[in-house]
Amino acid sequence: MDFLPISFRVRDARVLLVGGGEIATRKARLLLKAGAKLAVVAPQVNEELQSLLRQTGGSWLQEKYSAATLDGAVLVVAATPLRDVNEQVFRDASARQLPVNVVDAPALCTFIFPSIVERTPLTIAISSGGNSPVLVRQLRRKIDAMLPAAYGRLALFAGRMRTAVKQAIPAEGPRRLFWEQAVDGRVGELVLAGKEQQAEAHLQQQLLDTDALHRGEVYLLGAGPGDPDLMTFKAQRLLQSADVVLYDRLVAPAIVEMARRDAERIYVGKARSQHAVPQQEINQMLLTLAQQGKRVVRLKGGDPFIFGRGGEEIELLAQHGIPFQVIPGITAANAAACYGGIPLTHRDYARSVRFVAGHLKDGTVDHNWEDFRSETETLVFYMGLLGLPVICEQLQRHGRSGQTPVALVERASTPDQRVITGTLATMVDIVAREQPRAPTLIIVGEVVRLHDKLAWFGEDAPVE
Ligand code: SAH
Repeated sequence: MDFLPISFRVRDARVLLVGGGEIATRKARLLLKAGAKLAVVAPQVNEELQSLLRQTGGSWLQEKYSAATLDGAVLVVAATPLRDVNEQVFRDASARQLPVNVVDAPALCTFIFPSIVERTPLTIAISSGGNSPVLVRQLRRKIDAMLPAAYGRLALFAGRMRTAVKQAIPAEGPRRLFWEQAVDGRVGELVLAGKEQQAEAHLQQQLLDTDALHRGEVYLLGAGPGDPDLMTFKAQRLLQSADVVLYDRLVAPAIVEMARRDAERIYVGKARSQHAVPQQEINQMLLTLAQQGKRVVRLKGGDPFIFGRGGEEIELLAQHGIPFQVIPGITAANAAACYGGIPLTHRDYARSVRFVAGHLKDGTVDHNWEDFRSETETLVFYMGLLGLPVICEQLQRHGRSGQTPVALVERASTPDQRVITGTLATMVDIVAREQPRAPTLIIVGEVVRLHDKLAWFGEDAPVE
């Protein structure tokens, strides 16, 4: 780290700006936003800067720069096109140990201006230490897009309520938990929606309900199909607030890594029909951890409510009055379809799509196969690799043509994604030859024909 990020109070303090052109004006705007008492020294100053100075009570010293103008300044910025002037400012300021910035000359800076994302009073500063302004700009755009516009209001609200909350909850740990719950929960949502009075009333009420402070909470988070970028902002935010994270085999390590460094991570992985931790035990663990007052995140692959047993996991919590939230995720079918170039519906090929469990609780594959005969319906089988021979056979027996295209998408959305295509008649042999590895998804229907045309994501040539 070449520069220490700090936030400098310049309100009502004298800041000297050397130069009166376009770049100086840009810096002036920023300094004035922070409340600086601006003094500009330059023989000429453009209209805009002159008017800014008039509006804010700043001063214009209409003369050439000299060391005497530094008197009383807490910060100096040089933005002239003249190299010797800039160098002179740097030397004079350094001699007086005054922080100095020469615009676009990192060697002549004892401080630099970071790029900022503003949600006043919340300010996020980004700096690459002068190495890559482009990267900084990109990052700035990303952060800007990620933060709700009203976040600043939330910060102001928290600031207003700080003393009251501190008095009600003197201990730091419980107070942090209280604030986290308030900001992420109903209070935060009310503030973001502009209903601050209601938010305040709600917060006051929660302060009285001291029991609530010791009550844990459970979030069932959809972690998506594998690519960490496919998680929602909300899932990420809640994951970062967790004290404990329970995760299984389907969740990418990079996602588990997003949890706070001091969060406890518990693996409850399940492989097909050999449950590392039986489901009931997971349900019980969630309950016990929440009863200990912890913020528990249960990370689920894909979406928690699609073949994720999410319903079972929250049933027990609901019975015991533990607050919980379920956050949707991108399910494997969506990822396999988009990353594999297989639209699940299409005006010409499929008017509906059906998500089907490839095997049932007891390991068998048993369905009303009659229901699956429509040629204009796409079928997506989850957990279908073992049952593939039965699926292909039954579909043909119940009216689907042997020529119906089939795709098997292996590890959708990960760098190892592979799409294997065939037909109901040929797929079993192809898969026996190709030996795909779990997790895999099977897509049956005319839409699979589009794969050749629409696949773009690191695809190998389709296997015929
Ligand atoms: N809740 C999850 C599904 C859990 S069931 C979701 O919404 O995606 C587990 C099955 O999901 C696996 O057997 C496999 O069929 C499918 N699956 C999950 N992730 C996958 C991936 N990245 N690629 C292909 N199939 C996947």
